[in-house]
Amino acid sequence: MEDIIKLDANENPYGCSPKVSRALSSYPYLNIYPDNGQNRLRKLLEGYSGVGAEHIVAGSGSNQLIDLVLRLFVSKGDEVINCVPTFGLYRFSTELCGGTPVEVPRDDNFAIDIGAIKAALTKKTKIIFLANPNAPTGNLTPLRDILEILDTGLPVLVDEAYYEFSRQTVVPLLSQYDNLMVLRTFSKWAGLAGLRVGYGLFPPKIAEYLLRIKIPYNVNVAALVAVEESLKDIDYLAGAVKAIIDERERLFEELKKIEWLKPFPSQANFILCLVQKVDAKELRQKLQAKGILVRYFEEPRLRNCLRISVGKPEHTDALIKALRNIEKEFF
Ligand code: PMP
Repeated sequence: MEDIIKLDANENPYGCSPKVSRALSSYPYLNIYPDNGQNRLRKLLEGYSGVGAEHIVAGSGSNQLIDLVLRLFVSKGDEVINCVPTFGLYRFSTELCGGTPVEVPRDDNFAIDIGAIKAALTKKTKIIFLANPNAPTGNLTPLRDILEILDTGLPVLVDEAYYEFSRQTVVPLLSQYDNLMVLRTFSKWAGLAGLRVGYGLFPPKIAEYLLRIKIPYNVNVAALVAVEESLKDIDYLAGAVKAIIDERERLFEELKKIEWLKPFPSQANFILCLVQKVDAKELRQKLQAKGILVRYFEEPRLRNCLRISVGKPEHTDALIKALRNIEKEFF
């Protein structure tokens, strides 16, 4: 594991706060179930998000909340709007609920198409998904466009998994729009992907329903301890986030220097990169052979693209060196 440079899952290369590791190593109550009502956890999340606990539901990763929201809103034959390419789970979970994902293509720069979204709405549309920043493209949707989507009156779920890297949020709109839901996670900025903890901010009535239909004890005690300790160490974590943002900008510039790569600007902790002249899948294999993992997508709109997570500076250096060596094999 130490020798592998893992840039394929948008994890935090700096790990979690040392306070989390310390607290977990001496936590004495692993034999006791967590509080099913998530009261302490929701109170802590209230402090971090600035939104009242009655709006908050936590999940075993925000993945679980995507699934839970779809279970609440979608029955067989219902439609869910996705602005593609986007996070694959929206489609997957919609289909599991018997719903139909309606795919509205983004433009060449991956901006959403408001006109096409509105044209795609039918009586069966139950929810509109918007990852912001989008994954795996990394771009943000301007606030005015989100407002236009909200003004359709349909339930809108804005997935802010990468909020801490983009610093743009629709959370202040929650008090004005009762059709807005926001998802966040501790996986990326707080380095807790392995512990699985995310949360959603909902109108209180929706939060109440979600709490009712979730499986019991869906967030484990270690995750609760980890959230508590992470929030005590915000300055440390903010330092890691800043290092990742700085490195994202450097990685972008370095990738741009390679003539056969076209990186797309990103506000998240990864960069989508179009591979030109050579096969992206083959490039992924060649990087893997050198111990560097990146993500490839079997998806028409992402043809010949790779997504590269932002690592530490030494990971960028190793990646660029590997790309230059592979270049000699290709050309
Ligand atoms: N939303 C988006 C857009 C993501 O990219 C991810 C992580 N891949 C998630 C949600 C899920 O994150 P988690 O379940 O780890 O909170």
